[in-house]
Amino acid sequence: METSVLVINCGSSSIKYALVPKDPARPRLSGLAERLGSSNARLKGTDSNGETFEQSLGAADHTEALEAILGRLEGRLPVAVGHRIVHGGERFTRATLIDDEVVAAIEQTATLAPLHNPANLTGLAATRRLFPDLPQVAVFDTAFHQSLPPRAYRYALPEALYRDHGIRRYGFHGTSHAYVSRRADALSGLEGGGWLTAHLGNGCSTCAVWKGQSLDTSMGLTPLEGLVMGTRSGDVDPGLHAHLSRQLGWTIERIYEVLNRGSGLLGLSGLTNDVRELEAAEAEGHPGAALAIKVFCYSVAKSLAALSCALPRLDGLVFTGGIGENSPLVREQIIALLPHFGLQLNRTVNSETIRGQEGRIDAGGRQLWVIPTDEEGQIATETRQRLEETAA
Ligand code: AMP
Repeated sequence: METSVLVINCGSSSIKYALVPKDPARPRLSGLAERLGSSNARLKGTDSNGETFEQSLGAADHTEALEAILGRLEGRLPVAVGHRIVHGGERFTRATLIDDEVVAAIEQTATLAPLHNPANLTGLAATRRLFPDLPQVAVFDTAFHQSLPPRAYRYALPEALYRDHGIRRYGFHGTSHAYVSRRADALSGLEGGGWLTAHLGNGCSTCAVWKGQSLDTSMGLTPLEGLVMGTRSGDVDPGLHAHLSRQLGWTIERIYEVLNRGSGLLGLSGLTNDVRELEAAEAEGHPGAALAIKVFCYSVAKSLAALSCALPRLDGLVFTGGIGENSPLVREQIIALLPHFGLQLNRTVNSETIRGQEGRIDAGGRQLWVIPTDEEGQIATETRQRLEETAA
């Protein structure tokens, strides 16, 4: 019997999918439909033999793209659909079975994530139309961080902004931090350890996890707060916006665009947001690339040091995400900035741990782990757990 969960991550012009079997030994089918809404939408992915495919979808919308995805599932009808939903506000503290009332509640949180939640909802509506008989579960990026205490999630702003408008820190990348911290618990044998996790990809965030619960995280009301990222600035002086507006006459749209898409590693280097290219450019003496890597690593180390305050005990650090999993240089620079944590890096193992490998990279002292994230697997697991609890 088929026991796979279809994981759907729907953006405004794209749908990422993965058919995740319960048995990890069975192959996953996965892919991406992109440029939806344009005249040259495409679907690319990998089949069960590991072969890649690419097909034109013409002017497909989300429903048509989902139909094409269905055609790529090799006749394997999933038992449920798990949807990645970016923002669950304060209402959703865990994966939730979708019904009309839940959809209405997700719509209400759209003001907190105007770029993400409406796109997630488009995918949700299309999937419900296409699979009316399958249970569908929403898995929220914010849910793992609902265990933050008020001292970590409240901004020092007038109380009414929190009470009437929900302005507080929510945190994101929750499925990734949840997955790698649980994996670190299992791999280390320290069930319920104190971990600092660093998800370093195009978006970057850190998290302090104690006994499987998030106690603090670097992203806030939106995914712009915290670390320097690929194209996002991370923390800046809150006075910056007024300054740019008054002194340079910038509109709020322009400020938003620059902080989200023109800053971070890209803005600092003037070259690229891709760490592979930055490392190569630094080796050739590009000063902007060297500076971007330095500022990036310092911002991660500073955030980890700050988040350590949230933990009763620190057992170790976990690196994940495209940069965290693949850049020994970035890991080494971050660890070198935290000598007071009692970290000892095994340079040889560190340099060999790349491309999706799990590895313990310390040479004693506190534990240092590289753990490839598996957001799709985590969404499938939470979807299954939710269904089992509902059935019980
Ligand atoms: P993600 O968003 O997790 O897919 O991460 C994407 C980012 O990972 C890219 O923009 C690169 O900066 C980084 N990355 C991927 N592969 C490598 C690599 N081999 N070395 C350094 N950085 C990498």
